[in-house]
Amino acid sequence: MSITPPDVRSQLAPTSANLNFGQDLVAIPGPSIVPDRVLAAMRQPMPDIYSGDLVDISDEIFAQLPALARTSGQPFVVISNGHGAWQMAISNTLARGDKVLVLESGRFAIVWGEMAALSGVEVEVLPGADNRPVDPGALQARLAEDHNHEIKAVLTVHTDTATSVRNDVPAMRAAIDAADHPALFMVDCIASLGCEPYTMDAWGVDITIAASQKGLMVPPGLAFLWASDKALAAHERSDIRVGYVDWDMRLNAEHHYQLYCGTPPVSHLFGLREALAMIAEEGLEARWDRHSAHAAAVWAAVERWSSEGGIGFNIAEPSNRSTAVTTILTGEIDADELRRRCAGGAGLTLGLGIGELGNRAFRIGHMGYLNPPMLLGTLATIEAALHAMGAPIGGSGVAAAAEVVGAYL
Ligand SMILES: *Cc1c(COP(=O)(O)O)cnc(C)c1O
Repeated sequence: MSITPPDVRSQLAPTSANLNFGQDLVAIPGPSIVPDRVLAAMRQPMPDIYSGDLVDISDEIFAQLPALARTSGQPFVVISNGHGAWQMAISNTLARGDKVLVLESGRFAIVWGEMAALSGVEVEVLPGADNRPVDPGALQARLAEDHNHEIKAVLTVHTDTATSVRNDVPAMRAAIDAADHPALFMVDCIASLGCEPYTMDAWGVDITIAASQKGLMVPPGLAFLWASDKALAAHERSDIRVGYVDWDMRLNAEHHYQLYCGTPPVSHLFGLREALAMIAEEGLEARWDRHSAHAAAVWAAVERWSSEGGIGFNIAEPSNRSTAVTTILTGEIDADELRRRCAGGAGLTLGLGIGELGNRAFRIGHMGYLNPPMLLGTLATIEAALHAMGAPIGGSGVAAAAEVVGAYL
């Protein structure tokens, strides 16, 4: 019996293999990967919503929420995406005709302002740019001109998920104080909470907003709002009353049913309880550190890829970069095609370029449930697609990222 020697080269490099058979991975900035533990916790029969475990779970969650934002403020849970918490902030604290100052640093504060305008609020945008954080000096100068205190609130994002800039929240607070201005300070932390250092009370924030599907590892469908005493007091003069998100109803709840303004989001609460347990096991500060380390690996890769001048960071200055999401400019390379190759050929979903960045940028979400194999696999898949597209990359970004990760192993 003779054995035919295998054609080794064609076995090593078949030309038409489909490699995309395995666990799909999303590396977009929300919804991020939901841990199996959370998914398993959600898969339970519907409980009694008026008594028993669900009431205890709900109490437990409300008791844990303040620590997540590092505040003693009042937490609220909205059954919605983040936009619902934006609406809750607007309609509970402002009156028709009030002015708000929206700080531009990308996309998301602007959209929040557009929602406020629909509610009858006058919106002024403090102009910014797509590639740098809000300038606290410009904020201070604008507020100092507002002698009659017409501006009732300042709306900003902590991390802008389109540009991947991280704003300096304490510096903004200092700017408001330096102008001696009484405006409410509202911060959207939807992309950053649970990932990046944030201390609501120490930073003098009046309203913090988050959503379940980014760093908090729960599917989309829950939004969170924390209100300071000053924000709660502003409710008395608000006249944009929207029943579903109104604080009177939720704060005077005789029954936990009213906390949610109706039937509790039971499956999401089961999932959230598990996610909060995972966050507690890891520790919030350890989480912040893990995100910094993973971000450093991403930045090392992008730095290496950018050495030929084709690929680049949207945010040049590292201290202004988010550690939860990175926006990468692709120059002559069609970023949409890069994403298509990663998705179709490898099962990896990357974030698209938003607004003017369009198909000249893509985003990597590195938030929430993430370890080195997931991150390095993501970077290596991107690098493979860059190679396939003939992108001018100086060397292996993956090797650079692995060096960063190696320091922790
Ligand atoms: C994702 C995101 C939003 C929008 O959240 P939705 O849940 O889609 O409403 C708003 N702001 C920031 C900073 C975000 O990252």
